[in-house]
Amino acid sequence: MMAQYLEIKAQYRDAILFYRMGDFYEMFFDDAVAASEALDIALTKRGKHLGEDIAMCGVPVHAAEGYLLALIRKGFRVAIAEQMEDPAEAKKRGSKSVVRRDVVRLVTPGTLTEDSLLEARRHNYLCAFAEVRDEAALAWTDISTGELRVMPCPPARLPPELARLAPREVLVAEDHGADLALIVTEIGAAITPMARASFDSTGAEKRLCALFQVTTLDAFGAFDRAELAALGALVDYLDLTQRGKLPLLRAPQREALGGAMQIDAATRRNLEITAALSGGRAGSLLDAVDRSVTAGGARLLERRLSSPSRDLVQITARHDAVAHLLDATRLRDDLRAALRRVPDMDRALSRLALDRGGPRDLAAIRNGLENAALIATLMSGVEPGLLTTAATGLRGHDELISLLDQSLVAEPPLLVRDGGFIAPGYDGDLDETRRLRDEGRGVVAAMQADYIAQSGIQSLKIKHNNVLGYFIETTSTHAEKMQASPLNETFIHRQTTANQVRFTTLPLSEIETRILNAGNHALELEKRHFAVLRQAVLDQAGPIGVASQGLAELDVAGSFADLALAEDWIRPRVDDSHAFHIEGGRHPVVERALRRQGGTPFVANDCALTETGTPAIWLLTGPNMAGKSTFLRQNALIALIAQAGGYVPARAAHIGLVSQLFSRVGASDDLARGRSTFMVEMVETAAILNQADARALVILDEIGRGTATYDGLSIAWATLEHLHDVNRCRALFATHYHEMTALSAKLSGVENATVTVKEWDGEVIFLHEVKKGAADRSYGVQVARLAGLPSSVIDRAKVVLEALEAGERSGGSKAKALIDDLPLFRAAPAPVAKPAASKASAVELRLREVHPDALSPIEALNLIYELKQAL
Ligand code: ADP
Repeated sequence: MMAQYLEIKAQYRDAILFYRMGDFYEMFFDDAVAASEALDIALTKRGKHLGEDIAMCGVPVHAAEGYLLALIRKGFRVAIAEQMEDPAEAKKRGSKSVVRRDVVRLVTPGTLTEDSLLEARRHNYLCAFAEVRDEAALAWTDISTGELRVMPCPPARLPPELARLAPREVLVAEDHGADLALIVTEIGAAITPMARASFDSTGAEKRLCALFQVTTLDAFGAFDRAELAALGALVDYLDLTQRGKLPLLRAPQREALGGAMQIDAATRRNLEITAALSGGRAGSLLDAVDRSVTAGGARLLERRLSSPSRDLVQITARHDAVAHLLDATRLRDDLRAALRRVPDMDRALSRLALDRGGPRDLAAIRNGLENAALIATLMSGVEPGLLTTAATGLRGHDELISLLDQSLVAEPPLLVRDGGFIAPGYDGDLDETRRLRDEGRGVVAAMQADYIAQSGIQSLKIKHNNVLGYFIETTSTHAEKMQASPLNETFIHRQTTANQVRFTTLPLSEIETRILNAGNHALELEKRHFAVLRQAVLDQAGPIGVASQGLAELDVAGSFADLALAEDWIRPRVDDSHAFHIEGGRHPVVERALRRQGGTPFVANDCALTETGTPAIWLLTGPNMAGKSTFLRQNALIALIAQAGGYVPARAAHIGLVSQLFSRVGASDDLARGRSTFMVEMVETAAILNQADARALVILDEIGRGTATYDGLSIAWATLEHLHDVNRCRALFATHYHEMTALSAKLSGVENATVTVKEWDGEVIFLHEVKKGAADRSYGVQVARLAGLPSSVIDRAKVVLEALEAGERSGGSKAKALIDDLPLFRAAPAPVAKPAASKASAVELRLREVHPDALSPIEALNLIYELKQAL
């Protein structure tokens, strides 16, 4: 057996091997050590290999999914080796024969299909990135829904596209560079290197043609070499992990580069679009707007918010759909009520295709299609548009519905082997067999009554378990009574436990065989029905998929309509102007949080950048905590929701199509990447200045904060000038450098705005109102008091502030001299004395070799130690 184990294991070195032995999956050697630690289960030993103990641990098959999930979450891959024959078969070949085993599936983060392993409302993407000469492409699939897409993707576009898709696993060529590995791991996906051959575009074309049973892929679109390679690698990997059972993939769709609003990874993080900064979904935009009632709708909504459209026709059609459902109260209510009963057909279909499905998946298709038909009827009176287009695929499934309806019970069990899912009356043979089985059970009950009567033992019972089958059980206390009874002759002793004595009789064994045979036969019949029904569903996989997409579309429109009604959101006007005109805008997440806290209500604010096409920038000043960040973000989110097809949290909104959305926050720590805070900020700002076009919307919050005052101010200043003169885009720029407000006089497109506060009795009161004009002062000291800084520090700060302000008034930048006079600042470390010339060169030499960007924090620290030693 060990020889067999090692042979299989040799093919799956980078995975943990679940080796089926009876009712357990066993793990051995290093796998056992790793798994026992990861799963917190006992590590034992079994036999020896090359003189050493073999480490072993195991998990019961019936509970394996939970353990699988835990392992996958911890970054492992798991190969599942099943017994491919009955142990009895193996015995027949000879007493030493080992049961044949084979890996039936390789479970990886990107190839999950089980409901228990997946998040219902999220996609689970597997990506492949391919480079062929000077072309590059990204392909992705969610095998639990069958979606398959591809787009050209120059390496520079990879980080934002991966951030959009948030895949769980990314396939790359084995000779990929370190940069690529960093990009993938940074978004939290597993990286899976594959042989170059998997990315061969000619082979890929063949594989794809075979998969979709076509002679040429032309019908799906014109794919370049890199796109074919990426798609081919996906298919190859699925073939490997699913061991030849390919999931149900839809025809590949090509996404154009630039079809969606461009949003890079930092902006996504900042705006907390699908995940909050804390990591979870709670507190994200998605969480605040999601009122969808189906899993498919939730996934579509996530896709929409992740990639808002840039297509005016599409955006308008989506707004029309929401408008219609908003007006038609009755229709909306009926639609949502019907949608609530729609199960996750995509995932059911995918499991059925992979032969991992059960009767409940068939029922999901039945219930889904039944409700789809109902919804189609609801939509029949609606004027043509997105809603009616979505509804067209909901009809025409009557034949399949009636087949499933007649054949299945109302609520079938999860697994085929549980039986009992075929409805009575569907198959005469099955009904008859079941009757025999049930009759047998009746005979057993009668037998029990008879034995009680004959023995006089009231507690005598006929029971069943998997080891003994049917048996008669009495308690040990009745042993004497039993012996005295006339039954003693016919009772055959089977087992004595601590408190019980168990028997059988010939008639009981006979009836047992009958029940067993009938039961097995019934199960066989049901299995055959399942296979037929499964095939009937798979034959309709295409149309079912279309219906499912239609339902998701309707759900998203209904969700936006419901939200608009409940939260008083309005239809934005989106056109191809350069306008950005928001009246009474609100931040959906902050507003919700404030409402939950039950405190002061959210203050709505206007934002009017431009109607004309000249660049327009608002320079926002105001004290900390006034609401600057909130204002900046709410405007970005309003643009995003509008182009995702939703109504927006405002009184009125006119938005000229936004092509790119950028958001940066000064000085957010990113130590994990080994870059200093300031460096990150500058790299990110550089990206904006290099990329933003005239249709971009840029949100910059406290850029330049991460360095010394004058450095920071000059960088912020120059950045604003560049946005105004070169990028010529719409922008909101929050800063605490009051000096910058002077720029509005110099740059025609820059206007000052401030978030107002009131000072009352030495305290600041935040009004959260955004007004034209500049803030008069920063109130930093007052805010510090609110934060609970000791009053001695506050008092001292006031003195320092007054001194500094007086100094500025009396003659500009005498701050330095002033600072030297203030004892508070004398605590600063004295300047480092110049090191001796000879030593300095050693340090210098070492420093010249250093690439700061490539250092991790710990390496940086070690370097400092090293340099210090060299002094
Ligand atoms: P800043 O960026 O100016 O430091 P924030 O935007 O972080 O300030 O806002 C600080 C807090 O003020 C928020 O957490 C929120 O509770 C509150 N706030 C911000 N804007 C508003 C508003 N328009 N109406 C009500 N409360 C607001």
